[in-house]
Amino acid sequence: MDCIFCQIVAGKIPSEIIYQDEELIAFRDINPQAPTHLLIIPRKHIPSFAQLSQAELPLMGRMVTVANKLAKDEGIAETGYRLVVNYGEWGGQVVPHLHMHLLGGRRLSGKIG
Ligand code: AMP
Repeated sequence: MDCIFCQIVAGKIPSEIIYQDEELIAFRDINPQAPTHLLIIPRKHIPSFAQLSQAELPLMGRMVTVANKLAKDEGIAETGYRLVVNYGEWGGQVVPHLHMHLLGGRRLSGKIG
């Protein structure tokens, strides 16, 4: 188990977990890029959305639902926020465990690439 996010799921390394259910957990990014920067991840080790099976696809919808709820909880829903999911080296993915970034709390750059 050398996946850092699997270790967070297992409670083996500390993190600021702010949401959990039977399938997903969310915690604060250790290197925040905005006043609110959360990561929503499946408990199950799935390397990325590109590896999701047909049966696992609904997980992405659940991740969006949780992100929308957490945006409200964080008080950033009214002003707007960004959800980012990176895949692969050129897509900017560093941690090979599916995760969705929730960024907000400031006006974000118009750039997406
Ligand atoms: P990505 O570049 O999309 O793979 O994003 C990985 C994110 O994980 C980065 O924003 C890191 O700051 C974040 N990260 C890495 N290790 C930890 C950790 N132990 N706790 C919280 N966030 C982390």
